[in-house]
Amino acid sequence: MPTYQSILNELRRSFPQPTSDRIHDSYVTHTVMRVLDQVDALKSELPIWGSKLPLDYELARQSRLHWEGKSLEEVSSELVSYLNGLNIWGHPKTQINICPPPTVASLVAQVISGLASPNLVWDEVSQRFALAEVEVASIVSELMGYDSQTSAGIFTFGGTGCTLYAHRIALEKALPGSLKEGVRQDAAILVSANGHYCKLTVAGWLGLGQKNVHAIPTDARNQIRLDLLEERAREILAGGGKIACFMATVGTTDCFALDDVEAIVRLRDRLVQEFSLDYSPHVHADAVIGWAWSVFRDYQWEANPLGFRPRTVRALAATVERLAGLELADSIGIDFHKTGFTPYVSSLLLVKESQDLRRLGRGYEEMPYLFQTGEYHPGLFTLETSRSGSGILSALANLRLFGRTGLQSLLGHLVEKAQVLRELLEARPYLTIVNRDNFGPVTLFRAYPNGIDTFRVHERELTDPAFAEQLVAHNEYNRRLSRFLHTEAMSGRGVLLGQSDCFRLTPFGLPIVALKSYITSPFVEDLHLEQLVEKIAQAQRLM
Ligand SMILES: *Cc1c(COP(=O)(O)O)cnc(C)c1O
Repeated sequence: MPTYQSILNELRRSFPQPTSDRIHDSYVTHTVMRVLDQVDALKSELPIWGSKLPLDYELARQSRLHWEGKSLEEVSSELVSYLNGLNIWGHPKTQINICPPPTVASLVAQVISGLASPNLVWDEVSQRFALAEVEVASIVSELMGYDSQTSAGIFTFGGTGCTLYAHRIALEKALPGSLKEGVRQDAAILVSANGHYCKLTVAGWLGLGQKNVHAIPTDARNQIRLDLLEERAREILAGGGKIACFMATVGTTDCFALDDVEAIVRLRDRLVQEFSLDYSPHVHADAVIGWAWSVFRDYQWEANPLGFRPRTVRALAATVERLAGLELADSIGIDFHKTGFTPYVSSLLLVKESQDLRRLGRGYEEMPYLFQTGEYHPGLFTLETSRSGSGILSALANLRLFGRTGLQSLLGHLVEKAQVLRELLEARPYLTIVNRDNFGPVTLFRAYPNGIDTFRVHERELTDPAFAEQLVAHNEYNRRLSRFLHTEAMSGRGVLLGQSDCFRLTPFGLPIVALKSYITSPFVEDLHLEQLVEKIAQAQRLM
């Protein structure tokens, strides 16, 4: 048995050296480079890394800590093998979901954040990463139309984390003191039925209870029905109940529907007046997807300096029109890992009034081991204690890398290609786009068996209860088509699409299944979309 000292000496080579050691530093660099070479070797024409290997959880459960460690080289190679079967998000034939490929700049940010491992609990241990957080918050505040002098932003664990923060603030407004005394009373969360399911997570985990989430039906464009929202809000207030939060979804997960934030804020203001409320229900904009389109706010549509096609200009302008009023929301959730091209997790919660975060504060006396120095102490109110710097620096990396025109060009390209796909789909009589009035990079469509009059069929599915049987059969048809396309794509003969099992409910409660093309790769060209539609035509003949 070697002594601990000899093992330690060996292990010291597995750490970056604390003081410059050019030979060792180049060993570290080479280790990373060789790993990246191995990663590169996993690329083929397929839209996945390596190949899909069986996921043997039984074997995984038998894993134990070995007596002896392995060499850095062995471990590195083993780690690379874990990439097998993952989707390559940047592949033009990966169109599954809202998962953009990370940029090289954001990877650099991850590596150096990992290396220095700052903790954003406090600027003593995060130094200039604390500045980076303030910089990103200010840049995005300005994009959203907030005043960066009075707004504030903190990074957290995903759009779900943003929603959780917003609702904790909301509860403190509607049920003051509940942070301390506990939630002892109901308070409603009003959100569209198409809103993300994290509404339920948040209501449950905050101790409010999921029964307090009111899912308001959506209109034909998948936006929250303002008339029904108002009706429900009035019912609650008239019955003596409280409203904690109105949550607007600005870019829904499935179909890029955009709720009207301005109308929701105006409604809130009217109700506060009319019912003489002694609090103002919080308005949170869940813009984790839609936020990025704000770079088009001052785009000159007429001159169209970046040269988008007319259809694209129309789609982008329609989105920007919907973003008007975002600055009226009390808080906004932003995911850089959704539409900012960073790796997971990089999410920013912005509050219009920094004072709102103070509502979540603990006293300095509760944390005697922290905050003796510095002036940036987010740990006073954050949910997390330790917070990573990697999401922050990745976000900053991309904002710097892209600039306004870069992000405009990237997003514009995704929307442009979605529009091309729509043209191709529209040209085939057996295909129907079901989110025709949403203008993002996602297209949901349904296919129908030969001989079906698709001009009327989808309309009937949505409105005619007597058509339920056909609707269910068509759902099954689309599921089968989806499986066929998946198999083909995994053999290198097509595009990997997503599938939504319930893009929306019909008024009589049946789910509508749809195929989903979510374009997030900057590498998508018309040819990939032509192949996709051709592949569906082939399936149509075979099925
Ligand atoms: C993805 C998504 C969320 C959840 O965000 P995470 O970052 O995955 O936690 C919330 N809302 C919407 C609209 C989303 O699309």
